Amino acid sequence: MYRRVLVAIDASRESTAVLKKGKALAEASSADLVVAHVVEQPYINYAYGELVAQQYLPSVEEIKKQIMPTLLQHMESADVSADLLKVELGTPVDTITEMATEGEFDLLVVGSHGRHGLQLLLGSTANGVLHHAKCDVLAVRVFDE
Ligand code: AMP
Repeated sequence: MYRRVLVAIDASRESTAVLKKGKALAEASSADLVVAHVVEQPYINYAYGELVAQQYLPSVEEIKKQIMPTLLQHMESADVSADLLKVELGTPVDTITEMATEGEFDLLVVGSHGRHGLQLLLGSTANGVLHHAKCDVLAVRVFDE
């Protein structure tokens, strides 16, 4: 049914469950599977003054280094090869939807909620992806425990 499945994970604890769903769907469709994580550019909070922000702002490389073990842990838990993980720099909604379009994916899998918590009916990234993606989107329901 689907040819190419892109699963977006944010490294929250729900990521393994989201990945497992995407993997099962890809296998059922004999589709290619790719996993995406978007590292956000740290921004300067001028409320604290540019000088302070510049001193304490972690670089993208530092963030990437910090988050990599968690991402790889989720890949391993879901039994998905680490080679399928693509880490990009950008803003999550734009970058995920661009990756889906450019890579000609026909299914995008996200969690209904992630690091931003359960305060909304659908998380802000999930909602943005749903509105902007050109392909089908599956929001894997994440429940509060
Ligand atoms: P949110 O809407 O931010 O609560 O997140 C919902 C889902 O969007 C997560 O479960 C992920 O599937 C996806 N997502 C959020 N942020 C990112 C990110 N930085 N990189 C990749 N996927 C993300």
